[in-house]
Amino acid sequence: MSDPSATSNGAAARSGAGAATGWEPVIGLEVHVELDTETKMFCGCAVTKGDPPNTHTCPVCLAHPGALPVVNRRAVEYAVRIALALGCTVRPRSVFHRKNYFYPDLPKAYQISQYDEPLAVEGSFGYWVGDERLTCRINRVHMEEDAAKLVHAGGEAGRIAGSDYSMVDFNRGGTPLIEIVSEPDIPSPEAAREFLQQLRDLVIGLGVSEAVMEEGQIRWDANISVRPSGSGQLGTRTELKNMNSFRFLHQALEAEFRRQVDFLEAGGAIEQETLHFDPDTGLTTPLRSKEEAHDYRYFPEPDLVPLTADPAWVEELRRSQPELPAARIARFVDDYGLSRYDATVLGGPADLAAFYEAVVAEGVDPKQAANWTMGEYAAHLNAAGIEPGRGHVTPARLAALVRLVQDGTISGTAAKQVFALMVEERGEPREIVERNDLAQVSDAGELQAVVAGVLAGHPAQVEQFRAGKDQVVGFFVGQVMKETQGKANPKLVNELVRRALAG
Ligand SMILES: [Zn+2]
Repeated sequence: MSDPSATSNGAAARSGAGAATGWEPVIGLEVHVELDTETKMFCGCAVTKGDPPNTHTCPVCLAHPGALPVVNRRAVEYAVRIALALGCTVRPRSVFHRKNYFYPDLPKAYQISQYDEPLAVEGSFGYWVGDERLTCRINRVHMEEDAAKLVHAGGEAGRIAGSDYSMVDFNRGGTPLIEIVSEPDIPSPEAAREFLQQLRDLVIGLGVSEAVMEEGQIRWDANISVRPSGSGQLGTRTELKNMNSFRFLHQALEAEFRRQVDFLEAGGAIEQETLHFDPDTGLTTPLRSKEEAHDYRYFPEPDLVPLTADPAWVEELRRSQPELPAARIARFVDDYGLSRYDATVLGGPADLAAFYEAVVAEGVDPKQAANWTMGEYAAHLNAAGIEPGRGHVTPARLAALVRLVQDGTISGTAAKQVFALMVEERGEPREIVERNDLAQVSDAGELQAVVAGVLAGHPAQVEQFRAGKDQVVGFFVGQVMKETQGKANPKLVNELVRRALAG
């Protein structure tokens, strides 16, 4: 994504892990994204979630001898869309390779992947860390197929260690998978987390993956090395495999950064290896020494001709790309006058952005609409565990609530109460205000009587005011609000109290 405001030095983003140690981390990511196609990468089996195990299989994805793979065109389209969104060059010709290894979730004993002639190369991804715009170069985007799913039974928390037996569900085997490989341009664990969150927003916004983390539809390996701050050299890296939690990623990178720094300062040399992060102990431990490419004995898949991506077709896809989060965030700043932070929160995820824009389209102030969408509404989504746009709080209803505050019908405090009742009673804000008698009292005559009563009941405080103690006004306003159960218009009460005291 080309972005003229982009910087890649990441000075501010580096403030976390690297600060004050004299060392800085250098992080790269390999991100796997399952594509949301109807069928698998090389056969006609449906891609599904939650169906009974081994109900979507065929000779191709079970690797029966003689079965031949056929490339899923929609998967190629989705992969090209991702590559284009990352500013990559889509190569007119790419090649599928066999990546050979033996594991129970891989019936062919090889995975069809891409190797030295991938689908797309040399892109970049712009992302925000706080107020800083960083750019990470993208090395490549390639296509492959997912492995089947292993289920370990009888052990603790589904881990293989201590389990009694393991089962294989081949429903997932052969699901189209994209691997996005970044260059080691990411300057901190915090930046790595932001990179992944914003990349996830991107693939969801493209409509190519639901990227549900718990389902492993997006997962990643992170590699990290350390170097003396500002030195520009690259140290030996270690790899953290197969993570799908932003929080654990952050913790794991922090832990591994400290381990490497301690080790180097004690005179050790970092070995290239694959590590496991244990969230319980907060430590990284070696899993195995890193495989080299030659361990996989890559060779071109003899059952598939090279993949051609016709440049005219690629251009057609480029023209029909949906609006990407970075462009939408910039538009929210320009069109609605939102701060960059608010625009990122609202404009990043496509579904929340659509909800917000529907509220604004009802004609309410964009800034107020933003506050309510990011505040009460987002909290409600979290609490109810639902996606933006679902549930009974529609854009029209939220806009109606904002309008009631804007025209002074209800106070800001009452509005929060009304929102809670909108969730609970599933009703229209105006009806809820009427039914629960929550309208703000802005009738000067009615309030004057209350003010007079309060002043009469507190002669000592009236004396204090006359003696020059101006703060007593606040006390009177508070008393009037109490008398009216918080329904009085505070601004008007303030005026009336001052007028009565002066008179
Ligand atoms: Zn199949």
